[in-house]
Formats: sequence, structure tokens, C-alpha cells
Amino acid sequence: MTMLEIKNLHVELEEENKKILKGVDLTVETGKVHAIMGPNGSGKSTLSYVLSGRDGYEVTDGSATLEGEDILDMDPEERAAAGMFLAFQYPVEIPGVGNMTFLRTALNAQRKARGEPEVSSADFLKMVRAKAKDLQIDADMLKRPVNVGFSGGEKKRNEILQMAMLEPKMCILDETDSGLDVDAMKLVAQGVNALRDEGRAFLVITHYQRLLDHIRPDVVHIMSDGRIVKTGGPELALEVEKNGYGDLLAEGA
Ligand code: ADP
Ligand code: MG
Ligand code: MG
Repeated sequence: MTMLEIKNLHVELEEENKKILKGVDLTVETGKVHAIMGPNGSGKSTLSYVLSGRDGYEVTDGSATLEGEDILDMDPEERAAAGMFLAFQYPVEIPGVGNMTFLRTALNAQRKARGEPEVSSADFLKMVRAKAKDLQIDADMLKRPVNVGFSGGEKKRNEILQMAMLEPKMCILDETDSGLDVDAMKLVAQGVNALRDEGRAFLVITHYQRLLDHIRPDVVHIMSDGRIVKTGGPELALEVEKNGYGDLLAEGA
């Protein structure tokens, strides 16, 4: 079954009429992990923002569906309810809001958008404790304000916990270009691997071949100048690690 299908997607920045995505084609089957690599500025983050429904981008052509449903017409809450999850490149800090409260609010917002009843306090507690335990997250961290004073590794762990709680169908992870140490990278990989499931798909955007050593994607795509220019297996990531993008992009041109 197809989870995510993107066809000929063209996107401009609303403010500047600057074209960023210039015909992205991408199909992710249910149960698969796809990775997107590519030089800085090629449009990887823009793709993840557009899929999650962030403001400021205009789709000028093409389509994107989640399990056959058009998502581009949905607002971000509807997309989340439909099963789309974006782990942010730069996790926000929310002073004054406890992690538990944040998680519960996010979960209930999703349920509301699905027309489901709110989760009870008791059920929520049970659920969050079980998931935190699976992910080896300290109970202490659940009580602290969202991401405030968290280390890089703790933020990553928290993102994975958010993902685990919302049980999305399509998980998009956009990794920052820098500052992800080996331990944090392993955490992300463990989280993804723990949530890998036949009914779920992942799109992992990364600059790091090393992350893919731990995640082992089914498919690797290379993005350049607003398009997917090459698709292959995990060996494609190794090729990038070894030779950089130069040869690959020249070959594709
Ligand atoms: P990547 O994630 O592959 O590094 P991005 O999606 O962040 O690429 O950026 C793609 C292109 O769009 C870059 O040229 C970037 O400068 C530009 N861009 C993205 N967002 C904005 C913005 N809000 N304002 C101006 N330019 C932007
Ligand atoms: Mg970038
Ligand atoms: Mg980016």
C-alpha cells in the first residue's frame, strides 16, 4: 500500500515568489523507511514544512496524498489527525508548560480532530509512563517544562517520545546539519527502529550517512535544486559519504 505520494510538487515562498520545489516526485510505501539526502539549500526542509502545513509556502502545482487523501487542502491539525508527524529540525522550548501537559494537549488535539473522546488522566499517565519506559526516558524529564534546559540528546529523546505518543502513520524527521553527536544520533535511530512498523512509514532527512548506518533505510533519495534527482538503495548513502554529491549530481545532469 502507498502511504505518501507526491507528484510534480512545485512550491514557492509566498513572500518572495521564489521557487524552491521544482517538481518533486516521491512515493513512500507503507512500512518503509526512506531517507532524503542532498546538499544544503536543495529544499529538503521546505518539503517537510510543506507536508506538515506550515505557513509561508505556496503550492503552485502538483499533489501530495496520505493514504490516497489529499493533504495539501488540510490545515496542520487535520494533517496530524490524519497521521502526519513532523519532528522539528529545531525543537521549540516552551517555558512554563510541563512536558506531560504538552503531550496530553497534543494527544487530545489529535483525538478531537478525529472526533474521538479525550484521554482520561489515568489512561494518559499509564500510556506516557509505558512509552517513556520503552524509550528509557527518565520520569523526571516528563515533569520539566518542554525542552527548557534539555541537552541535545534529551531534546531528541523528547521528540521521539512525542512521536511515540501520537502514533503517527507518516513520520518525517528533519535532522539539523550540525550538532548531532554520535549518542544523540543513536537515540534517534533507536527511536525510529522501535517505532518501525508495518502500518507506518518514515521519511528521514539527514546529512549524515552515519545516522543511516543505524537506521538502515529501505530507499535513499538525493535531492538537488528542488527535485529528487536520484533514488537507490542504502548503497547510495555510502556513495555520498565516500565521494560527496559532486559526481552523483553531475551524473544525473
Ligand atoms: P535544505 O533543507 O535542503 O538545506 P531548505 O528547504 O532549507 O533546504 O532551503 C531551500 C532554499 O530555499 C534555500 O535556497 C533557502 O535559502 C531558501 N529558503 C527556504 N526558506 C526560506 C525563507 N523562509 N526565506 C528565504 N529563503 C528561504
Ligand atoms: Mg539547510
Ligand atoms: Mg534543512
